[in-house]
Amino acid sequence: MQYVSTRNKQRRVTAAQAIAAGLSPDGGLFLPESFPTVSAEELSALCACDYRERAVRIMKLFLEEFSTEELEGFAKAAYGEQYDCPEAAPLRKLDANTAFLELWHGPTCAFKDMALQMLPHLLTASLKKTGEKREVCILVATSGDTGKAALEGFKDVAGTRILVFYPEDGVSQMQKLQMVTQAGQNVNVCAVKGNFDDAQSGVKAIFSDPALREELSGRGYLLSSANSINWGRLLPQIVYYFSAYCDMVSQGMVPCGHRVNFCVPTGNFGNILAGYYARKMGLPVGRLICASNANNVLTDFISTGTYDRNRHFYTTVSPSMDILISSNLERLLYDLCGENDKQVAEWMAQLAETGRYTVTPAVKEALDAVFAAGFCDDRRTEETIGKLFKESRYLIDTHTAVAASVLEDYRRRTGDETPAAVVSTASPYKFCQAVLEALGENGQVSGLEAVEKLAERTAVPAPRPLTELKDKAVRFTRVAEKDALRTVVLDFLK
Ligand SMILES: *Cc1c(COP(=O)(O)O)cnc(C)c1O
Repeated sequence: MQYVSTRNKQRRVTAAQAIAAGLSPDGGLFLPESFPTVSAEELSALCACDYRERAVRIMKLFLEEFSTEELEGFAKAAYGEQYDCPEAAPLRKLDANTAFLELWHGPTCAFKDMALQMLPHLLTASLKKTGEKREVCILVATSGDTGKAALEGFKDVAGTRILVFYPEDGVSQMQKLQMVTQAGQNVNVCAVKGNFDDAQSGVKAIFSDPALREELSGRGYLLSSANSINWGRLLPQIVYYFSAYCDMVSQGMVPCGHRVNFCVPTGNFGNILAGYYARKMGLPVGRLICASNANNVLTDFISTGTYDRNRHFYTTVSPSMDILISSNLERLLYDLCGENDKQVAEWMAQLAETGRYTVTPAVKEALDAVFAAGFCDDRRTEETIGKLFKESRYLIDTHTAVAASVLEDYRRRTGDETPAAVVSTASPYKFCQAVLEALGENGQVSGLEAVEKLAERTAVPAPRPLTELKDKAVRFTRVAEKDALRTVVLDFLK
């Protein structure tokens, strides 16, 4: 199977080349030239598999040049003991037609682990297959959870280095503490003065700076990305949509072959795009409901067909979704406009110049056939957490609460009672302050004290990776201006 760039479909590469490169040199994103399909028989066979086998079977469809044995090794390493439950991505049924897909049982307690525990294996193997001799340096811009998950995934992986940039005031205390205490000989972490988009734009500028790349190449380094623009990040995420579906079948929520909906708390559009690809492969998915916080650029896009980032940027209690440019939307557009790479390149150029673009009526119609959207503000987010805990003793984090609230609105608005899974993207313990407030606890407590307090208040056990932070020393304190990220890279890769 060959992969193409969203901005130039003449540029055909192998899976290993796409994963090794991250971003295409024309600025576009890689995606498969065609999508494999999963038959009804294959789907019901998947239901009998555990998570690792599901991962091998789905990923193999996209990775011809990787052997099954190779992928089994990766799945074993990526979804093993570092998870606090054997299912890796358990489905918690709340009522007859609502479930939560818990994607936060990995080492950093957020859904990014599902992809970032796998990516280092895919990436190092891809580099070998492409004959690369240089050491790879992963550059990450993070709105919080990606950074820590990438650091955990890559720490002390031979032949790799990793440097993470996060917005100084745009991540939670807990997220920051997780990153600045990161262990590993090959890791570095730096704060950026600005918001997530500043950090992401800074990293993108480094990737598209040929002089810098050449300088680093001379020093023996190749730059690559672990952001959700890398195909190796997206692919492992397709797996959990299949897995969730199988579990909904096993738990009697739906007969195999009948449709379900997913409601996804969305930022960079990576998670929900993986759901779209699963649907494209034949998974019986009705609607994908895109849930946003007050940064509702996607809600507006899905309801009007105009993407417009010229708006106020809000810092919310769901910081991993505080994003105004959703990079992965480009892959969806490519698909919806009939793989018209020129059209995609034009919209992306408009976005870069004016901050907005409007899709054609045909694309808007294709969008409407699959997606629904909604948003919710911080007050509603906290109300949702409080209500769910009070009524069901089920504790969710702020991002998941955005989706739960949007699903409720969607059902009320449309009357669509199709069984649905809310994609649960973080442990409530990653966002303790806001969760405590939602439960009516207003006293100011800081990061780790808040963990203890939440455990006392709810009797829900706190995840070990978070309680263990109290014994860790801070290793990284550097803060950089947003236009000075080059210097940080050059210092790290001496
Ligand atoms: C990253 C993240 C999101 C957003 O996912 P995207 O793939 O960027 O849309 C939502 N919730 C949490 C907790 C996250 O870490």
